[in-house]
Parts: sequence; C-alpha cells; structure tokens
Amino acid sequence: MDYELIKKRLAPCGLHCGKCFAFKDGDIGKFSFKLRESLGDFDVYAKRFVDLIDEPVFLKYPEFKEMLDYMSLPQCGGCREEKCKLFKGCKVRECSERLNVDYCFECIDFPCNNTGFDEHLQKRSVEINTRMKEIGVDNYYDEIKDKSRY
Ligand code: SF4
Ligand code: SF4
Repeated sequence: MDYELIKKRLAPCGLHCGKCFAFKDGDIGKFSFKLRESLGDFDVYAKRFVDLIDEPVFLKYPEFKEMLDYMSLPQCGGCREEKCKLFKGCKVRECSERLNVDYCFECIDFPCNNTGFDEHLQKRSVEINTRMKEIGVDNYYDEIKDKSRY
C-alpha cells in the first residue's frame, strides 16, 4: 500500500487506527453495519427463540443489538485527522507534528516519557515503534494489516 495511505491508518504512536472499533473506514464498523443489516428485525425472533429452541441466551439480544448499533456507527477519522477519542491524554500526535516526524521511532528522543500513555499503552507503543524501526513501515504494515489490534 502507498506510504500516505498506510500513514492514514497507522498513528504516530504506531497503533493501528484502521483496526480500531471507532475508525470510520475500519472493518469493525463495516462488518457491524452489515451484521446489523442482515439481522433485520431479529428482535421478534430472539424473543421467540428463547422458548422455541429453549435457549435463554436470546434474552441477551437487546444488549447485543445495542452494542452492535454502537459499533455500526464509528465516529473517528483516525489520529492523522483528529484527536484520539479513546486515549484523551495522548500527547504523541501533537508532539510528532511539532517535531516533524511521522512515527515516534524517527524521533531522536525515542523512546520517551512524553507520550501521556499509561504503562500498558506505553509498552505497546515502544514495541510497535521498535519493530517499525527494525523492518520499515511498509513491512510492518504488511505484518499487521490483517490482524486484530485487540
Ligand atoms: S485516533 Fe484513536 S479513536 Fe481514532 S481511530 Fe485512532 S485509535 Fe481509534
Ligand atoms: S518526543 Fe516522544 S512522543 Fe514526541 S515524537 Fe518523540 S518519541 Fe514520540
């Protein structure tokens, strides 16, 4: 894939926006929408199936649908376009723009303590950026593009 297109999907911290549930152009939103469409008016049937096939799991359909509705309408254009909706304390986006680097691994201060991340995310970002530095952005993207980020 073209470098600029990869950049739209990979945040400067290395996280894969393309696989984020909140990403407008992502698989999770797309497939949730399709599943929502395929289920149609399943509410009625979910109620019936509780007794019809003696399966109480169908009682949980309203909660499942609520979640699916939420996942079907992703709101984020990705880190290159707007502030992250998940990690509100993230400082990487602004910092990388100020230092004029596409990814943290290109920065002379990498790895730094200026990300605003918690321990878990900090560790992940350092691992991802170390890998990108090792094999290059294109190869890294090929490595992860079809994997879940979760
Ligand atoms: S910027 Fe944050 S919320 Fe938006 S797609 Fe990327 S990780 Fe998800
Ligand atoms: S200072 Fe830290 S957060 Fe900012 S670009 Fe460099 S490595 Fe990333």
